[in-house]
Amino acid sequence: MELEIFQKEMAERFAAFDKKSGPFFLMTVLTAEMGELAETVKNDDPGRVSEELADLVFTAVSIANIYGINLSNALKEKYLNRSTKEISEKWKEPYLGKRVERL
Ligand SMILES: [Mg+2]
Repeated sequence: MELEIFQKEMAERFAAFDKKSGPFFLMTVLTAEMGELAETVKNDDPGRVSEELADLVFTAVSIANIYGINLSNALKEKYLNRSTKEISEKWKEPYLGKRVERL
């Protein structure tokens, strides 16, 4: 997967910086980027959505590198090696459960 190559290159270029920043700081950045993505989606701006998604993935990959996680394998295990039904049921659980509680 190309993600593996991307992650390896990210590690080569930014591992020292990411380690110095630390996972808590990167989580703060990830949260800020999530807000920026939400804003661009709200404004229906595909060019900016692309830019903010890139920021989000960049930061997520940095966090994965700090923990030595092979993101490509993690994604395969969690999403590609499961049936669509299993995945959709997992995604519905927390949201549907809360909606049902409110009714
Ligand atoms: Mg951004």
